[in-house]
Amino acid sequence: MKTALVTGGSRGIGAAIAHRLSADGFRVCATSRRPESVTPDPLLLERDGFYAPFAAEEAANCVKLVDTVLEKFCQLDILVCNAGVSWRGLTQDMSEEDYRYLMAVDLDAAFYCCKAVLPHMIRRKSGKIVLISSMWGQVGGACEVAYSAAKAGLIGLTKALAKEVGPSGITVNCVAPGVIDTEMNQALGPQALADLAEETPLGRLGSVQDVAGCVSYLCSDDGGFLTGQVIAPNGGLVI
Ligand code: NAP
Repeated sequence: MKTALVTGGSRGIGAAIAHRLSADGFRVCATSRRPESVTPDPLLLERDGFYAPFAAEEAANCVKLVDTVLEKFCQLDILVCNAGVSWRGLTQDMSEEDYRYLMAVDLDAAFYCCKAVLPHMIRRKSGKIVLISSMWGQVGGACEVAYSAAKAGLIGLTKALAKEVGPSGITVNCVAPGVIDTEMNQALGPQALADLAEETPLGRLGSVQDVAGCVSYLCSDDGGFLTGQVIAPNGGLVI
């Protein structure tokens, strides 16, 4: 059975990705900082998956996470780096601590998780890595400068790593969602969310399933010749 690791799989987009990959037949490890508080996905458990503790801000935790998954699954076919946090406000108001934390979770952890899985994937000459960026990483968002920088960093990481590990049979792609209806966006309030839906050519916010479907495709055999790409489920908000 093929296996997948999804960071930040406790809720929102990550939970939908974990569910979709389980439905696709993968044995999935999903992470949370508090796995004991997660409402487990029945399908994930049915496929012999599990929830692992993971706090992305420490590089050592990335290594430990990959070791845990390899110990349990013996192989790792898919890595999805999805765990992320946002910070909204004026750049001059962001503390150094908040900036460092955001960068550690949104960008550094993806680098360290990739670094940790690569020896295994290279040895097997196979593997698929998907990094969850954002439309703000493509075009930049006012009042989300650090977040935009981290998410743009993931796009650069995707392209460079795809070139480096392509010859080892590993694909690296990026998914850059638009506005998706999750907890992360609830702080925007109902009016701002309705305005964003109206601004979107397809006339609605994205669902977590819209993103999970893209990840599923990239992890399928049909997506096998795609690497270094940015797939953007955004309803046309950014074209
Ligand atoms: P969410 O509902 O807030 O979920 C965030 C996930 O990340 C949770 O599973 C959470 O797990 C995990 N997480 C948060 N801080 C963490 C940390 N320090 N260490 C490890 N895990 C941590 O967010 P979402 O909307 O599903 O977003 C998921 C990803 O998609 C993020 O990378 C986000 O930037 C990106 N994205 C979202 C949107 C959107 O509109 N929602 C758009 C574009 C991109 P625990 O709290 O259980 O630890």
